[in-house]
Parts: sequence; structure tokens; C-alpha cells
Amino acid sequence: SGTLYVVATPIGHLGDISERALATLRQADLIAAEDTRHCQQLLNHYGISTPVTALHDHNERARVDGILDRLRAGSDVALVSDAGTPLINDPGFLLVRAAHEAGIRVSPVPGPCAAIAALSAAGLATDRFAFEGFPPRTSSARRRFFEGLRDEPRTLVFYESCHRLLPCLEDLAATFPPQRRLVIAKELTKVHERFIISEVAGAALRFRDHPDRLKGEFVLVLEGAPRDKTGLSAEQRRVLDLLLEECS
Ligand code: SAM
Repeated sequence: SGTLYVVATPIGHLGDISERALATLRQADLIAAEDTRHCQQLLNHYGISTPVTALHDHNERARVDGILDRLRAGSDVALVSDAGTPLINDPGFLLVRAAHEAGIRVSPVPGPCAAIAALSAAGLATDRFAFEGFPPRTSSARRRFFEGLRDEPRTLVFYESCHRLLPCLEDLAATFPPQRRLVIAKELTKVHERFIISEVAGAALRFRDHPDRLKGEFVLVLEGAPRDKTGLSAEQRRVLDLLLEECS
């Protein structure tokens, strides 16, 4: 059978496509793309004429069998999303899992990923981090979600849409300690790339009176909760204290 290649594409700067990504897209028999028109623009830019089929959240389940048939028949298939690494808050999970289950070789062609790019340049601890994807869309669900993460000692990474950035920052301020450091990575690899470094309490202010600043794509990188000398988080310490109290 053929190979399913999981191919990362640029998150802004077209120069970030790798040589191996281009060779893989050129040599594949079929490209499964989140948005065929978007993918076609990338292919046209590089003069690649491989056929493209759509694989997005709404048809993934229905398309998986057909793509597996192609792979079983010996075709190589390249999976791409609109930007960055497929499956990282993008479609492809069902296809990749099904390919493994069918004994088909799956191989990554790694490259850009907004979360990793933001972390690499945010200046917050990177030894341990938790990628939390998009926070819930409604304020009440978002606050509950953030409350569950308040004592997490790992650096937290979120994606957020420009439409919800301001309410999201307000909910962060309502749930996390005010001095927690927050780095907002905006328009990574693009002309207007910027790192907005602040504390949770003041972050919303940077945008509230400047609606123009809310345009673009954003990754939020939030400092984790402090650990005590024993390496325990405040929540672990609290649970341990309760247990010790029970035992004594
Ligand atoms: N698969 C992609 C990746 O590997 O990063 C992520 C796809 S997700 C649907 C889109 C979100 O990623 C955006 O809403 C934003 O939070 C983040 N993102 C993507 N490109 C970005 C960029 N150039 N600068 C900042 N954030 C970006």
C-alpha cells in the first residue's frame, strides 16, 4: 500500500514551506486538503499539479474510506490543512487513525505550527507546556474552563479567533491571578508580526481602545502557576495537606 504523508504548510510566510514538503506534494498521487481552493493557490505558486480532494471537518468521516481505498491500492496521499500542521486544531484525525488501524504507513513531514512558533519566541518556560487549543466560545463556559486551569503549573498555550480575543482576555483577567505573565503572539511570520507582553490584568487594556489591533491571528501563551520548593503546584499542595490532615 501507499503512504499517508501528513504535511505541514506555512502559517503566513510562504518561505517556510520545506523542500521535503514541496517534493512530497509534487510526488503524491493525491492531496487531501481542508480547503481545495486555498490549497490550489499554494500549489499554483509552486507549479504543482497533483490532484486535490477536500477533507474537512464536515466530510471527513464520509471521505476516509475512499482515501483508504486509494492508499490500499498503492497511491501516496498527502494530507494538508489551510495553514500549519494538520490535526493541530485542524482536520485529519479520523484519517490518520484509520490509516494506522488499516496497517498503512503514516509519515509526518513536519514544519510550521503556530503554537510551537509562539512558544519558541514568547520567553516563557517551555520545559513543560500544555496546548489547550481554542477556549470555549461563551463567556460562562470559558470562565469555567480557565478556572480548571488556574493551578496548572505548565505554560498554557491557547489559540483564539480575533472576534473573541477581547472577551477572552477579559475572562482570563477574571479567573487568573493578575500578575501572571501573558504573551500574545500576533500574526506570526507575517508582515505585522508582534509579541504583546503583559500581565493577565493589563492585557485587555492594550486592545480595548484600539480595535485595529484586534485584526489578525493570535496565539496566547500564559505563564503556569508557581510550584513550591518540592515541585508541587498550589492545587497538589492543597490536596496533600488535606490527605495529611486525614491521616493524622
Ligand atoms: N494547524 C494550525 C497550526 O499548526 O498552528 C492551526 C490551525 S487553527 C484552525 C488556527 C488558529 O491558529 C488561529 O485562530 C490562531 O489562533 C492560530 N494561528 C494560525 N496561524 C497563525 C499566525 N500566523 N499567527 C498567530 N496565530 C496563528
